[in-house]
Amino acid sequence: MENKAHNGARCLAVANVSLCLLVSLMPSCGKARVSPAETSLEADVHQYLRLAVALGERDPDSLDYYYGSEGLVADIRKQPPTLREIRQSADGLVEHLRLHAELQAEDRMREEYMIRQLRAISSRVDMLTSVPMTFDQETAAVFGVTVPASYDRRHMAQVRAELDRLLPGKGSLAQRYESFDAAFTIPSVKLKEVMQKAIQGCREATMAHIDLPAGEATELKFVHNKPWSGYSFYQGSYRSVVEINTDFALTVDRVLQLACHETYPGHHVYNSLQEAKLVHGRKMDELAVQPTFSPQSLVSEAAATLAIDVAFPPVDRLRFEREVLFPLAGLDGSKAARYLKVEALVDELHQAEPEIARDYLDGKLEFERANSALEEQTLMTHGEVALKYINEYRSYIATYTYGRDLTAKLLGQPVSSGGQSSVSWERYSKWMMSPPATMNSEAATPAREDSASQRRVTIGRNESAVKQKQLIPVI
Ligand SMILES: [Zn+2]
Repeated sequence: MENKAHNGARCLAVANVSLCLLVSLMPSCGKARVSPAETSLEADVHQYLRLAVALGERDPDSLDYYYGSEGLVADIRKQPPTLREIRQSADGLVEHLRLHAELQAEDRMREEYMIRQLRAISSRVDMLTSVPMTFDQETAAVFGVTVPASYDRRHMAQVRAELDRLLPGKGSLAQRYESFDAAFTIPSVKLKEVMQKAIQGCREATMAHIDLPAGEATELKFVHNKPWSGYSFYQGSYRSVVEINTDFALTVDRVLQLACHETYPGHHVYNSLQEAKLVHGRKMDELAVQPTFSPQSLVSEAAATLAIDVAFPPVDRLRFEREVLFPLAGLDGSKAARYLKVEALVDELHQAEPEIARDYLDGKLEFERANSALEEQTLMTHGEVALKYINEYRSYIATYTYGRDLTAKLLGQPVSSGGQSSVSWERYSKWMMSPPATMNSEAATPAREDSASQRRVTIGRNESAVKQKQLIPVI
C-alpha cells in the first residue's frame, strides 16, 4: 500500500484536469476528508465512489446502488458536479491510475477494475450528452464486450417450426403464442401468495448450497406505474427491497424466474456475498457502489440471469411449478410440462433480439420495422414495449444476453435454453464470491464462431422480462 506523501504527488500528476475540479471531487486532495491513515489506494477508491454517486445524482438510472459511507458523499449529494465535470474527473482518475501501478497483485487488480469502471462512467456521460455511438461501440465502451454480429438463423427457423406444431390454430404464430401464454397468467389476487412462495422456494434451494450472511433478508413490495416489472434495491447490510410491478401480468414460470433473478440466488445473494466476502472481508470498498452501465453490472446481471438455472434444474423446475406454484395460482398443474416446453423454445428465439436492437439503435431499422421483426422472429406481439425500453436503456440488454452467455461459458456450462440445462452450485457460488474484476471481459469473450451457440438472449432488465406484455425491466 502506498503512503500519504505519495498520495499528494499523485493528485498533481493527473494531467489535463483542472486542480479545482479535482479538489471538488477528490477527497484525497480535498481539505479534511483524508485521514492520516488513508492510503493512496483508499483515496482513489473514495474518489471513484464519489464519482459514481455523482453520476447517479445527475442521472438516477446510472446508479444501481451505493451503501458506503454517506459522509463520504454528502457534499456530492447536496451539490453534484456537472456531467462534464464528472467525465473530466473520471478521465483524470483513469490517467492517474494508469500512471501508478500498485506493486501488490490484488491492489493492481483493484486499480484495473476501477479503470474499467471509470471508463464506463465516462462513456455513460457520453450517452447522456448524445455523443454518437453505435451499439457495438457502446457495449465495448460501457460493458467491455462486443456482442456477436449474428446468430443461428437456421436453428431459429427450426424452433419456430416446432412451436408452430405445438401451437396449432388460427392467427399468426405470435398471436397463438400470446393466447397460450396468457392461460398461465396468475390471477392478481393470488400474485402475492405465489410470489412469496416462489421466493421461499428459491431461498430454500439456495441455502442448501450457500451459507448466507446472518441477518440477510428481502422485503417484497408491490407497486404500480413503473416502467419495469421488478426491481431489486440493495440496501447494504445484506438486505434488499424487491418491488414487483403489478401492472404487468405474470405467468407462473416468469414469477419463478423473477424470484430467482431478484432474490435467491440472484441479485440479493450476489450483492450480499460481495458485501460479506469482499467489501467487509477483503476491504474492497469500491464494490459498495454499482454504476448501472458498467462491466460490474454485466457480471451482476449475468449472475441474476443464470440464477434460475442454478436453483432449479429442469426436473426440479417442473416439479416445483406443477406441484406448488400452479395449485397456489389456481391453475391446472397437468399442463405445466407442455407450458415449460413451449416457454423454453420461445426463450431460444431471443437470440434474434440483440441484432434487432443493434439495427434499431444504429438507425438501420425504424420503430415499426423493428417492432415487426420482434414479432416475427421472437413472437413478441408487443415489441413496442421492448423498443421503448431500448430507447431508454439502450445496449443494457447485452447484460442479459451476451453477458449471460459469457458467464455460462466461464462456468463451463453448455449455454442454456430456457431451463433445458443447469449450472452447478459449486461453480456459481465460487464465482459469486469472486471480485467482478476477475471476469476479464476481453479474456473471457468467446471466439466469434461461438456466436451461433447463443441460446438465451433477451431484451429488458431481466431475462424473464421481454416476452409479450411483460417486459420486465429490472435492476
Ligand atoms: Zn437484474
